[in-house]
Amino acid sequence: MTSALLPTYARAPIAFERGEGAWLEARGGERYLDFGAGIAVNALGHTHPHLVAALTEQAGKLWHTSNLFEIPEGERLGRRLVDATFADVAFFANSGAEANEAAIKMARKYHAAGGHPERFRIITIEGAFHGRTLATIAAGGQQKYIEGFGPKVDGFDQVPFGDHDALRAAIGPETAAILIEPIQGEGGVRPVPPQCLRGLRALCDEHGILLIMDEVQTGVGRTGKLFAYEWAGAAPDIMSAAKGIGGGFPLGVCLATAEAARGMTAGSHGTTFGGNPLAMAVGNAVLDVVLSDGFLDHVQRMGLILKQRLAALQDRHPSVIADIRGEGLMLGLKLHVPNTAFTAAARDAHLLVIPAGDNVVRLLPPLIITEADVAEAVTRLDTAAGRLGTRLRGAAE
Ligand SMILES: *Cc1c(COP(=O)(O)O)cnc(C)c1O
Repeated sequence: MTSALLPTYARAPIAFERGEGAWLEARGGERYLDFGAGIAVNALGHTHPHLVAALTEQAGKLWHTSNLFEIPEGERLGRRLVDATFADVAFFANSGAEANEAAIKMARKYHAAGGHPERFRIITIEGAFHGRTLATIAAGGQQKYIEGFGPKVDGFDQVPFGDHDALRAAIGPETAAILIEPIQGEGGVRPVPPQCLRGLRALCDEHGILLIMDEVQTGVGRTGKLFAYEWAGAAPDIMSAAKGIGGGFPLGVCLATAEAARGMTAGSHGTTFGGNPLAMAVGNAVLDVVLSDGFLDHVQRMGLILKQRLAALQDRHPSVIADIRGEGLMLGLKLHVPNTAFTAAARDAHLLVIPAGDNVVRLLPPLIITEADVAEAVTRLDTAAGRLGTRLRGAAE
């Protein structure tokens, strides 16, 4: 039967019925180890008891009131995020793209409020991904997402990844900000070296422009710090987060210093759904766990163990795996075989992984995984790589 859904996704032919921790159960009862976490969203795995309790309790009290009224749970979540980061203020949205839209608008408005409305252009990095709205596809700069959707939104200047000279040269009298992911996610788990992030910070200060970090994928503990910028010791002026922050509930946030947010006065931006009581209850519950003692240490430890095991796996399958990169539990395998074939082979071994650009597959497991989960995942990756290696040798003969 044909689907009634717009055919914008190439879906794998599996439907899941329930999940627990790092495991998913498909219709028919087959179990899969989930090292994709719904694209880095299920930070605490599936049906985490604390999240289920928070959601169901709030669901019985109040779901939505609109931002015409005070939302105490949102005040609380905002305060906690501000206390845990560089930021002074938070704006809640429902997705990563919306958080980035808020960040882009805020950066432009900052300069307008300072008497320089001509400073509206934002420098972005090749291979970036910032979402699928008209402005964020222009920011991401990927032709395959831009083509056919009319004139590209103006105001984005893209420079090659790692090209410091091009970046300096791109700064002009109209530049408002630089927008960057500390580790490119969709672009293929490409980390920006910490010294480069510090260099960017200095460059922005030198030119009076804002540094925006897109931590939609890297944030909320994914790399072993609450936010990835902490590894560099260079804070942004504005930052977006989403994915893991709701643990599976749609939630995004734009965080900023008071200075960067100076143009965002009453009425300048808004959303109907963003920050509603249901979302805020879940967001607070996610933070309860992520900020609890030892949680981020656990992520770092699991990340190290996984990376070590993956290095051994690469040694066993040098014709399949070319490189391992990433930080914490945001790891990428750069492959010699097509990443789509590898993803399918892993799925055949009942392990879920996620393809990315640059012929990489991403491992983005729930942050609550155990050493046993890591061992099981590596066994299944070994099976997948073995099958692909055999196929390669077969083709060569
Ligand atoms: C996923 C992602 C986005 C877009 O988030 P949506 O919730 O899909 O709008 C933006 N930036 C980065 C870095 C992402 O990984």
